[in-house]
Amino acid sequence: MSECFFCQNSGGKVLYNCDAYRIILVADDDYPGYLRVVLNPHLRELTDLSFDENINLYQAVIKCEQILRQTLNPEKINIASFGNVTPHIHWHIIPRFSNDKHFPNPTWGEIIHPDYQPSSELISAAANLRNNFKTLFLAL
Ligand SMILES: [Zn+2]
Repeated sequence: MSECFFCQNSGGKVLYNCDAYRIILVADDDYPGYLRVVLNPHLRELTDLSFDENINLYQAVIKCEQILRQTLNPEKINIASFGNVTPHIHWHIIPRFSNDKHFPNPTWGEIIHPDYQPSSELISAAANLRNNFKTLFLAL
């Protein structure tokens, strides 16, 4: 689909890539460590994949959650799949902190802490995650 964002763009820094999907680090200054698992083929809905293909994709999502827990120690991890704006299968994996900009709302919701800035420790941990992601991912 030529006008599809994820068919035209990686969507962020690619941390891992395989035939089925890629894992990208989203460039969002408010949410260091925000990951997306993007299916490489252009498909709209999870039921466009076989059960085994879904399990393979879901394993990647869970591994991302595990890596975020290990490296960033967030209060909570939000996992979401919408695709209303970009109907190409992708999962958002977002580390959340109790003082972050939207907490406890979804990151798409109302801002609760407008002055929030990620700590230097969090930014540093997210840089570590970026640099070591592939090794961490393949070790799981
Ligand atoms: Zn697409």
